[in-house]
Amino acid sequence: FNNDLQRSEKMEIISELAASVAHEVRNPLQVTRGFLQIIGEGSDSKEKEYLQLAISELDRAAHIINDFLTFAKPQTDTVECLDVGGELRHVAGILLPLAKMQESTIEIQLEDGLYVKFSSSKFKQALINLIKNGIEALQENGLVSISAWKSGSHVVISIRDSGEGMTAGELARLGEPYFSNKTKGTGLGLMVTFRIIEAMNGTIEFKSVKGKGTEAIVKLPAVKP
Ligand code: ADP
Ligand code: MG
Repeated sequence: FNNDLQRSEKMEIISELAASVAHEVRNPLQVTRGFLQIIGEGSDSKEKEYLQLAISELDRAAHIINDFLTFAKPQTDTVECLDVGGELRHVAGILLPLAKMQESTIEIQLEDGLYVKFSSSKFKQALINLIKNGIEALQENGLVSISAWKSGSHVVISIRDSGEGMTAGELARLGEPYFSNKTKGTGLGLMVTFRIIEAMNGTIEFKSVKGKGTEAIVKLPAVKP
């Protein structure tokens, strides 16, 4: 019991520390990126190439932070009763510009009165990594369709995309650290999502057809508000 308590206190300190670091590191990354871009405007082609490399390395660092700690704030994140609809709308709102950039749409259909219990920033992190993957899988004029409903004692969340889909081999590797088919992927997004869903005592399942699209189905224990 003592060890468990110590362990969970240590985990809490680590996660609080990580949140502060992410928060503090994001700004200097962004500022440095801006200055490199300005320098790039007045340089010759060899320098430009190096600056481009430097910028893409900064972007890589930012992507890694974003896969783990998009919503992290330096304060401790507390476990609370979360309105699933509200959380989904918030995350979809943040990702809508990304969808629009490739002429695609996000559609949401929600039942009322869906609640789960967890840290809001971690729950949103799990959702954002799933929805972002959906958007990134789309061609032009694609659709990511998000729905949530109650089923028995569980809240079910479905995130479906009309994107490129996956083979059985790819499906089997989901959640494996550093597995990515993207040129600028981290391969950490789903690992983070799987851990969060597991910590919520939930399950996650993927259905996918290559060339047609993918559906992620998350089931979480429902709570009363
Ligand atoms: P990343 O997005 O950085 O590549 P993820 O862990 O989020 O890392 O996803 C790992 C890989 O799983 C992706 O590179 C992609 O190949 C595949 N994948 C995940 N979600 C989808 C999806 N909705 N449609 C197609 N492929 C997907
Ligand atoms: Mg991803």
